[in-house]
Amino acid sequence: FLDRIREGKEDPLLRQACQVCEYPVPMGADLTIGLIGANLDTGVLLVAGTPEGEKVIRELGLEEVKAGDREAAIAKLVGERARKREEMLKQTREEVRGLDKLMAALAPCINCHNCKTACPLCYCKECFFDSPVFEFEAEKYLGWAKRKGALRMPSDTLLFHLTRLNHMVISCVGCGLCTEACPNSIPVADIFRLVGYEVQKLFDYVPGRSLDEELPLTTFKEEELTDIGK
Ligand code: SF4
Ligand code: SF4
Ligand code: SF4
Repeated sequence: FLDRIREGKEDPLLRQACQVCEYPVPMGADLTIGLIGANLDTGVLLVAGTPEGEKVIRELGLEEVKAGDREAAIAKLVGERARKREEMLKQTREEVRGLDKLMAALAPCINCHNCKTACPLCYCKECFFDSPVFEFEAEKYLGWAKRKGALRMPSDTLLFHLTRLNHMVISCVGCGLCTEACPNSIPVADIFRLVGYEVQKLFDYVPGRSLDEELPLTTFKEEELTDIGK
């Protein structure tokens, strides 16, 4: 892994979400341990990303060194990941295009909510989907089944995913934890990444880019999205 990353090459053993992540270097961290492009035979590279980080390096009395091929190696890695991300988005777009295909992709869902529990952005103290809103007596289900002829169980899986998308996809960081947590191997992260990518592009929003940036959905702008509904 270290040999490959040093040269700015991808490691096939990384999780799929990491292989298509175009941020291999953290944004806004005070200090980063720089492995990409570094010559580890001569030492470990500490990169200061903020004035606080610079202060720590100064106080540790570390000497300033040139980072060698680091920038070129990072650019190479980001380019490769962006290419793979486009491939993944294209494939996912095909796999979930239209309601029928989306329902087929989510058909194995057993409504366990593991994807939501693992998601770092689903941090509500009380999730709507764990509230009593969805607790029904057995008679209720039997009544619905009788009226419709049959009832898919567990119910409301599509509602769960569409609502979760609606609640947090603008902030989806594509970490892939939802896919990892799914017992039925549903590519939840690919679907959320696809929708998140489109929505974030629309608002020119990058989750985590800046603490001063407001969430687009919390800011009403009269002159925004005026083409919708024309
Ligand atoms: S990929 Fe997105 S939806 Fe899935 S766990 Fe990460 S942040 Fe949450
Ligand atoms: S699904 Fe919605 S309500 Fe539930 S934790 Fe996520 S953002 Fe909060
Ligand atoms: S983890 Fe998988 S099975 Fe469980 S709710 Fe999420 S998508 Fe459905």
